[in-house]
Amino acid sequence: MADIYLTNSLTGKKEKFELHNSKEVGMYACGPTVHNFATIGNFRTYTVADILFRLLGYNSFYTKYVMNLTDVGHLVGDADTGDDKVEESAKKKGKTAWDIAEYYTKIFLKDFEALNLRKPWIFPKATDHIEEQIDLIKVLEEKGFTYKTSDGIYFDTKEFEEKTGRKYGELSTLDEVLEGARVRENPEKKNARDFALWKFSKKPGERHMEWESPWGIGFPGWHIECSAMSMKYLGESFDIHIGGEDLRSTHHPNEIAQSEAATDKPFVRYWIHVTFLKVDGKRMSKSLNNFYTISDLQKKGFDPLALRYLYLTAHYRDSLNFTWESLKAAQTAFDKLRSQVVGYREKSSRTTLSPEKQKKIDDFRNRFTLAVCDDINTPRALAAFWEMLKSNIPSGDKYDLAMSFDEVLGLGLQGFQTQKVEIPIEVQKLAEEREALRKAEKFEDADKIRKSMLEEGYLVEDTPEGPKVNKIQK
Ligand code: AMP
Ligand code: ZN
Repeated sequence: MADIYLTNSLTGKKEKFELHNSKEVGMYACGPTVHNFATIGNFRTYTVADILFRLLGYNSFYTKYVMNLTDVGHLVGDADTGDDKVEESAKKKGKTAWDIAEYYTKIFLKDFEALNLRKPWIFPKATDHIEEQIDLIKVLEEKGFTYKTSDGIYFDTKEFEEKTGRKYGELSTLDEVLEGARVRENPEKKNARDFALWKFSKKPGERHMEWESPWGIGFPGWHIECSAMSMKYLGESFDIHIGGEDLRSTHHPNEIAQSEAATDKPFVRYWIHVTFLKVDGKRMSKSLNNFYTISDLQKKGFDPLALRYLYLTAHYRDSLNFTWESLKAAQTAFDKLRSQVVGYREKSSRTTLSPEKQKKIDDFRNRFTLAVCDDINTPRALAAFWEMLKSNIPSGDKYDLAMSFDEVLGLGLQGFQTQKVEIPIEVQKLAEEREALRKAEKFEDADKIRKSMLEEGYLVEDTPEGPKVNKIQK
């Protein structure tokens, strides 16, 4: 197995992934805010997290993977201003915030499955961890990192720098820091980049989600939930934290500052940031209302796994532009890949391998492994996959390699089943023709027919009872 290299946003460098003082990997992904449907943009980030999770398994690491569900505290304005997103959605739809969170969580989990994303070890909800968040704020208060304003308890970023000797915002680029410095909506904030740990309910009883705390009735800030839940499940220092690129300038620096201020330990070793998916060349966001959901794709007849394939065609640090045309092309390529792999499922053609063929098989495996281990380079891995399929190695080995590659890519190739339906007479005739050619030992011609049938969506499998034709399920 090759070593895994990941671009760590903390250093800006590609670094070898190594475990520190533990046998298992701790990995945390910032999950969805369940106030609306998750978008195909959000799912780009979760798919990258899934591929990394699978890759770690492929390299024999055991991974404790945690993805939170933000059901409280994420405000409409990123600088701790505006309404809580879940409460706002509840108001608009005439439901309670609890109903909204439950409804969108359910749909999120359904879409998660449709994209063949492996379930994390746990999906903790912010509302189930209020006590942990209050306890963490108490520690910060005792250590002198907090102050009170009329609307909440804030984290003092300057105090963090003075007390710890650390710079606040190591993950951000200079521009982002400057941009942050311009934002100072709350005049009571001591420093522009200070952030809310606990917000007071404006009028207690008005919100659906609010709790008692040592500071007054209210709700936790968005940043504190990720620190409290990640440290609860993965310990005070853990390995990987992943999220979209937007989190790099505020949410993640805030997580680092409050966690390290509380524990005096390095919080996370590898920070991974996924570049945003664009739609028709534009930034996609729920607030701009130009987002698509998995269900929008399904309504147009696309397989969510074709979207997964599309994600794989770009490196996660490069931008990816979604258009319906690009999805259509991904669906075509994915269908072709899937039909070819299914076609190689027949292992009966296994033969003794020549040393050259064995070397080719090893080379394909190495190329694939090196690509995925090189900062999750899925486009390069896909190219190796296609070349392998086109090569002259035996079918059974193609199938075995495809299954092994799919452990990382997660295109659901193994579970893919063919469907029994009426087979048109022309297709049956082709199958008979192929069988006659096989009997006459004209294997190349027989294979040509099998391939053309596959392109038409029909798979012929040789069984002990003779050839069987099935339609490939889409
Ligand atoms: P949210 O539901 O807004 O809290 O976002 C959940 C996750 O999706 C975060 O890691 C975001 O950074 C990420 N995300 C949001 N929009 C996009 C996008 N267009 N492309 C990729 N990731 C995104
Ligand atoms: Zn987070």
